[in-house]
Amino acid sequence: MKFKFHTFSELAAILEAEHIPAPEYGIKREAFMTGVSEERLLPEIDRRIEITRNALIKGLEHPQHSRSGLTKGAAVAFASAARRLIQDELFTRSLAYSLAINEVNACGGKVVSFPTAGSSGIVPGLIWAWWDTRGNPGPEGACNMAQIREAPYDSRLRDAFIVASLTGVIIAQGATLAGSEGGCQAECGAAGAMAACALAYLEEQPLKACFSAAALSLKNSLGLVCDPVAGLVEVPCVKRNAFVAANVLTAVDLTLSSIESIIPFDEVVWAMKQIGDILPGVLKENSTGGLAITPTGLAFKQVLERLDT
Ligand code: SF4
Repeated sequence: MKFKFHTFSELAAILEAEHIPAPEYGIKREAFMTGVSEERLLPEIDRRIEITRNALIKGLEHPQHSRSGLTKGAAVAFASAARRLIQDELFTRSLAYSLAINEVNACGGKVVSFPTAGSSGIVPGLIWAWWDTRGNPGPEGACNMAQIREAPYDSRLRDAFIVASLTGVIIAQGATLAGSEGGCQAECGAAGAMAACALAYLEEQPLKACFSAAALSLKNSLGLVCDPVAGLVEVPCVKRNAFVAANVLTAVDLTLSSIESIIPFDEVVWAMKQIGDILPGVLKENSTGGLAITPTGLAFKQVLERLDT
C-alpha cells in the first residue's frame, strides 16, 4: 500500500485503489510512518482524545486565568451566559468547548497540539460539541457538565480525529502548520479545515464533500496573521479558536446544503502557501506587528516585563 501522498487528489486515488476507508488508512499510514503497531496506536490515540476531553472539562469547570491577565475565564462566562443571540446547542457548545480547551493551553495546562497549541481548541472542541449534541445527545441545556463528563464515545469519534489528521498532513506538506512560517492561517486556519473535514465526515458526507468543507473553511482563513500580544499564545489566539469554530460550522452547513467550494482543497492549500510566503515577517509570530504593537498590546508587554524582573 502506498503511504506517501501530498494532495487530496493523491489520497483519494489511493483510497479508491485500495478500497479502504480513510480512518483505516490513516491508522495503517501512521503505523508505517512511526513503526508503532496498529494495536499499540489505537490506545495511544484514545489516550490523546481523553486529554482533549479532560482539558475541555477543566476549562469549563474552572475559569482559567493566566498570569498575564490576558486570559480571564471566557469559556465559563460564555457557557453560563444568560443571554445569547444564537440559541443553538451545537453552536454554543462548539464555541464554549473551543474556548475552554484553548484557555487551558493559555494557562499552561495539558492539551494536544492538534495541529498546534495555539489552535488546540478548534478540532477537539468541534468534534466533542458534535458528539455531545448529535452523537450522544443528552438533555437540552447549555453545557450540562454531568453529560460532558459521563459521555461515552465509540470509534466514530476516533475516526473523525483521524480524518482531521489526514487533512492536516496534506496542509503540512503543501503549505505549513507553523504560524512562524505562514501566519495564523497555518494554525487556526489549518485547524478549521481539519475540523470542517471531520464534522462533514461525522455527518456521513462522502470524502470529496468533506474536503470541500475543509476548502470552504480554509478559504475564509487565508491571510490570517499571527501577531500575539507580548509573545504569548493568548491574544488573539484564545478567542480566535471560537471564531474559527463558527467558521467551521458555516462551512459544514454549506456542505450539507450541497454547496461546494469552487476552488478545490488542493488549490486552496497551494494559495495558502503563496500567501504565507509573501506575508511580512512582522506578522509571523514574532510580535513586532499588528495587535502586538497596539498601545494596549505594548502596555501588556511592559507589565509582563516588570513582573519578570
Ligand atoms: S495568532 Fe499566532 S500564536 Fe496565536 S494561534 Fe494564531 S498562529 Fe498561533
